[in-house]
Amino acid sequence: MNDCIFCRIIKGDIPSAKVYEDELCYAFKDINPQAPAHVLVVPKKHAASVLELGEEDKALLGHIQLVIGKLAKELGVSETGFRVMTNCGSDACQSVKHLHYHLLGGVQMSEKMV
Ligand code: 5GP
Ligand code: ZN
Repeated sequence: MNDCIFCRIIKGDIPSAKVYEDELCYAFKDINPQAPAHVLVVPKKHAASVLELGEEDKALLGHIQLVIGKLAKELGVSETGFRVMTNCGSDACQSVKHLHYHLLGGVQMSEKMV
């Protein structure tokens, strides 16, 4: 999608600090990090959120979870802990309408989720 900022990042039209890429997903540093380690993991397939995915995307979603685990190790937060989050819709303040998973770590986080 030409008007989607993350699709443009995946295509390379907008620069990003890439940390990982394979045929299904792309990961890059968040431009406004909320933790010492803050990476966004996005499927290359455009979908606004999990609400737009279906049975045919099960393998993609599982793959992304495994990539997140691999990146947590590479980023050095697998031992200390990390948080994985996806915002969906207005109550969750989703600002970019392309499914993405925040991988946050490197700091003691609050027990509170909201
Ligand atoms: P959301 O609020 O939708 O869950 O998260 C969107 C995230 O994308 C935010 O944390 C924001 O900082 C990040 N972001 C928005 N635009 C860009 C960009 O152009 N480059 C990078 N690297 N991150 C972006
Ligand atoms: Zn997109």
